Amino acid sequence: MLLEVRDLHVEFRTRDGVAKAVNGVSYGVDAGETLAVLGESGSGKSVTAQAVMGILDIPPGRITGGEVLFNGRDLLKLKEDERRKVRGAEMAMIFQDALSSLNPVISVGDQLAEMFTVHRGMSRKDGRARAVELMDRVRIPAARERVRQYPHQFSGGMRQRIMIAMALALEPALIIADEPTTALDVTVQAQVMELLAELQRELHMGLILITHDLGVVADVADRIAVMYAGRIVESAPVHDIYKAPAHPYTRGLLDSIPRLDLKGQELYAIKGLPPSLLNIPPGCAFHPRCPLARDVCRTDEPPLYEVSRTRGSACHFWRECLHG
Ligand code: SF4
Ligand code: MG
Repeated sequence: MLLEVRDLHVEFRTRDGVAKAVNGVSYGVDAGETLAVLGESGSGKSVTAQAVMGILDIPPGRITGGEVLFNGRDLLKLKEDERRKVRGAEMAMIFQDALSSLNPVISVGDQLAEMFTVHRGMSRKDGRARAVELMDRVRIPAARERVRQYPHQFSGGMRQRIMIAMALALEPALIIADEPTTALDVTVQAQVMELLAELQRELHMGLILITHDLGVVADVADRIAVMYAGRIVESAPVHDIYKAPAHPYTRGLLDSIPRLDLKGQELYAIKGLPPSLLNIPPGCAFHPRCPLARDVCRTDEPPLYEVSRTRGSACHFWRECLHG
């Protein structure tokens, strides 16, 4: 396994108490595989990824347990300088908002070239040549001319391609993309997602795709891990999930119909709101919103039941959900 997260716990200290953002998450991704991590905002999907990347930089954030094994090595035990080497060279992250991730006063060519001059000790000239190659690779038209332009001179979709180029520069084994297309128009979303999937296959990378939109991952993911209130509530091959969800929350996600006029907003088909991480409901955290909930759900926290060899569901009534 390229990356294996085991029983990860992350807490945030806030003025109002301890927010339990990640509560025992385990997932893995292999080389050449795409794992989609799905959930509403506040489900812990981004925080988990930040813990994996070692960029959990909001000061009160604290990893309180678990392991992050990357090629068998626990990243949580590395010193910060070793960690920094892994980041960028061996794993890279793509964020939703390219405009705030790129430096506005440095040309995109220079920012791309810097990956090679700083990390690979290349000359500026060679770095520039590699920058043009990368821009070609992510299919930015007229790369040779546009390499001198600044981030604001590119459209949102083109900027996101530049982010992908930055992430790919050092040929990492793993890429984590956090809502990489959420800020884009639907057609551009599909193009960027396709490009990412294609490069992932070509370079045989592991890809973790974080999203709140089940629609965008259907064609590219191998597996899906659904998160709710800091836990994984269902984990399964993508085809299994589409055939029949084994958790009522996954069913709710499937039933959400994408609507163009609500672009950028989070899920709405499931009634109610996700719980505050300061005050996660007892028993099954989903029970206040669950159409199948009954008494035991209010008191007993469901473990991740083994639905099949490759599938787990944290619902006491997963059989009912699966066949219902
Ligand atoms: Fe719903 Fe109960 Fe299953 Fe939780 S355990 S998802 S509340 S049926
Ligand atoms: Mg997020």
